[in-house]
Amino acid sequence: MSARVLVVDDMPANRKILEAKLSASYYSVVTAANGQEALDKVQIEKPDLILLDVMMPGMDGFECCRRLKSNPETSHIPVVMITALDQSSDRIRGLEAGADDFLTKPPNDLALFARVRSLVRVKMMIDELQMRDDTLRDLGADAPSLASGIEPSGHVTIVDERASRAQSLARAISSRLKANCATFDCGADAIEASRTIAPDLFVVARTIGDEDGLRLCSELRSSNSTRQSGIIVMVDHDDFESIASALDLGANDYIMRPVDENEFAARVRAQLLRKNYADKLRESVYHNMRLAVTDELTGVYNRRYVEQHLQRQISHCADSGAALSVMMLDLDKFKNVNDTHGHSAGDDVLRDFAKRAAEQLRGVDLVGRYGGEEFVVVMPETTGEAARVAAERVRKAVGEKPFLTQDGVELTATVSIGVAEVLTRRDTARSLIERADEALYVSKRNGRDRVSVSGDNADVA
Ligand code: GH3
Ligand code: MG
Ligand code: MG
Repeated sequence: MSARVLVVDDMPANRKILEAKLSASYYSVVTAANGQEALDKVQIEKPDLILLDVMMPGMDGFECCRRLKSNPETSHIPVVMITALDQSSDRIRGLEAGADDFLTKPPNDLALFARVRSLVRVKMMIDELQMRDDTLRDLGADAPSLASGIEPSGHVTIVDERASRAQSLARAISSRLKANCATFDCGADAIEASRTIAPDLFVVARTIGDEDGLRLCSELRSSNSTRQSGIIVMVDHDDFESIASALDLGANDYIMRPVDENEFAARVRAQLLRKNYADKLRESVYHNMRLAVTDELTGVYNRRYVEQHLQRQISHCADSGAALSVMMLDLDKFKNVNDTHGHSAGDDVLRDFAKRAAEQLRGVDLVGRYGGEEFVVVMPETTGEAARVAAERVRKAVGEKPFLTQDGVELTATVSIGVAEVLTRRDTARSLIERADEALYVSKRNGRDRVSVSGDNADVA
């Protein structure tokens, strides 16, 4: 996985060493000699990861990190601080400034590379979601922005063989963050419990009795319910080998024993924020995806979606021999409604019409707006005769009761409907809709406010 890394250090020798190591692993490397230069380079180079020295003249690493993380354009870029400082208070300062990790100088290669791979992987996943979200927004989805409302809260599950240790970790979290903690002394119980509510974060001990914590990490990553959860693995001091394996298996972070409670809480906080941001982004993509297939005015499916769906249904019919019908519906003399009461009153009727129609149909019937005041319904497992009965229900529901506009005007509307059933294996979405449209035309010709079924000789005047 190739990615661009920005190395920030005031000592030329330190930059050279990191640059050489990273380039040897096929990362593309950009460097900066101080905090300000780093901020400038980030704008131009758009790195996937920043390795940031802490002690630099002028703006130090903490300040630089804080600035990167408070700018929405750069806040998603992971930052690893690299420093000679090895006090837990310094690590916490870094994590609080928004750093994703804190490595001691000179960094252990195994830990550094596993860390880089893991952060780059998460960033690429977020970038991909972000891109889909942007594309959908470009397509016209008018969704609220995600920038605000991300909180470090959620459900945390701690898996450690020693109940007392798990409980003191839980206290360390719940006394500092708005999180619910559950503790388990074996992996199987934790997995079982996560089927009801998937935790936002797992904290997994490297060994859990005679269980391998890394195996649990890999199970959590491959199971559907926990695939999106964060994982922090808890390892013995300086066990870089386990850290590297865990990160490569998909763990998001680690904490070394003996656990410093403040550092632990800071790492949990960072993971909950990341998870909540990714969740919001995923929800937004889902929401916008829905908007892309629905009609904005009425909320029913749009024409593009209906045509795709109908073609799929027709192929399914050809395989299974099941019946399938479509209905085309067109409001009668709708131009008059607009001319008499205004376009916005017309919109109100269209909205209410879609709702009334859907209320007369089954959940499996797909209602779509075909254009203007014309609608279509795809009815699986439905013969033409059954569709005629449903169409009659819709027609009655529209005509029997006036529509109420937002301005409080009551106005009556009627609908003409044409029905067609799949008859031969040669039918396509287009031919079926054409026949329904012809039947609709027959309804119009015969006086409107009626239902015709394609092939119904009595109706063909
Ligand atoms: P017919 O019974 O023959 O269908 O008569 P009609 O007036 O309904 O048919 P025509 O196709 O002549 O006119 C359709 C009208 O539907 C014209 C247009 O103003 C109106 N219309 C189409 N889309 C919309 C919309 O989104 N909002 C509103 N308010 N009116 C729409
Ligand atoms: Mg019409
Ligand atoms: Mg029309």
